Amino acid sequence: MPDLYPRFIALIREISALGGARMLLSWDQEICLPPKGVPGRARQLAALAGVIHEKVCDEELGTLIAELSAASLEPVPAANVREAKRERDRAVKLPASLVRELSEASSLARDAWLQARTQDDWSLFAPRLETLIGLKRREAEAVGYAGEIYNALLDEYEPGARVEEVAAVFDGLKAELVPLLGALMEAPDQPDDSVLRRTYDVGLQERIGREVLTAMGYDFEAGRLDVSAHPFTEGMDVGDVRITTRYHEDDLTPALYASLHEGGHALYEQGLPAAHAGTPVATAVSLGIHESQSRLWENCVGRSREFLAWILPRLRELFPEQLGGTELETLYRAVNRVAPSLIRIEADEVTYSLHIILRMELERALLRGDAAVNDLPTLWNERMREDLGVAPANDAEGVLQDIHWSFGLFGYFPTYALGNLYAAQLFRAAADELPDLRDGIARGEFRPLLDWLRERIHRRGRALAPRDLIRAATGRPLDVADFADSLSEKFGALYSI
Ligand code: ZN
Repeated sequence: MPDLYPRFIALIREISALGGARMLLSWDQEICLPPKGVPGRARQLAALAGVIHEKVCDEELGTLIAELSAASLEPVPAANVREAKRERDRAVKLPASLVRELSEASSLARDAWLQARTQDDWSLFAPRLETLIGLKRREAEAVGYAGEIYNALLDEYEPGARVEEVAAVFDGLKAELVPLLGALMEAPDQPDDSVLRRTYDVGLQERIGREVLTAMGYDFEAGRLDVSAHPFTEGMDVGDVRITTRYHEDDLTPALYASLHEGGHALYEQGLPAAHAGTPVATAVSLGIHESQSRLWENCVGRSREFLAWILPRLRELFPEQLGGTELETLYRAVNRVAPSLIRIEADEVTYSLHIILRMELERALLRGDAAVNDLPTLWNERMREDLGVAPANDAEGVLQDIHWSFGLFGYFPTYALGNLYAAQLFRAAADELPDLRDGIARGEFRPLLDWLRERIHRRGRALAPRDLIRAATGRPLDVADFADSLSEKFGALYSI
């Protein structure tokens, strides 16, 4: 037995290193790759994916996992074996032909989606989507599931989650959000966010973004900040966690809040247990938990009165003409303006989750066969009108707005709303345990919060499943109450309702 575990670790570390190289290639594609390099890069990525898949499915690894699974191991080795088994089982169940078909179908679908969105013509994307859904059904059947077919796909992003339970949680959430939104929209005292829409020098925006990241505890020696069309975080290794942002000269908020959001993702990756680098326990446990870290910094911290009290003097210094005379309350109300909108990525704290719930319900209906691809635009518009009170004038700003489905990412969206719920629950627990937390934020002291997250979430990596991690970190199972209560408290006061 003593020889088996080191050999197992050597094999999975090699797979993890290849995965890191693959991530670096895709990071480079977003940031530096010259246009003529795209076809070559696609071949490089596909070749690496093939090598990784072979190594994951390798018989020696399978035998080691089987023997170690039967052995009695310490908690960390046991978690590594369990997680490697979970990933390998999924990989070996997928026939190589299906993996190839999925990869080709999603390349074609991505092109078709782009054209359909540009030309606002659903019929260009619909047949490709139909094919992809057929393939995702085959994938689900191949990997297997309990309950609804959707679970096979959801499990890849949020291990152990069951859509039947998630849907019940989301029903509860929607029952809180829809009336709250209605009440906010009827309030006579609507916030004005025009102060954010003045001209803000991009160089100075970058400076404040870097200052915020440094104050949060982001380690620039273990990462870097670049610009991309859609901000993202890529962690090749605990020592190399890169983030991107985007700047708009006529709006202060996208870059500032992208720094907080991506910074939250990056703190998680930089805080994973370095001693176990290259093994499953040193990787993020789920997309929902990942998103909880970004949402916590973006919303619970970044949109709080305390955070704005800390940053406003610095903003006044950097932007005296734009913000010199701005009061804290004006800024607080501006960054927290709620308005139902068509586009998910621009949505505020109250409406964001409604965009997600709509997508998850449509995905379930498609996979169960209860809805046809051709009905999607109509269903989308009906649901937008019902839940948000707005409907898109065209499909480009409706059902065609997100890239996810063209990648074959079904079961991915719910993790965004789960992230909001986890974030509120974690922040509440942290505030209960650290009485000075909010006052500290007003002084720019973020270390106690980071330390708390390090201990309760980051350092635990994948030792616990997401639902157990939340319970262990907060003492309670997932519950919508903290999120719903924090929103009604905050926005009730802000809108004087
Ligand atoms: Zn995110």
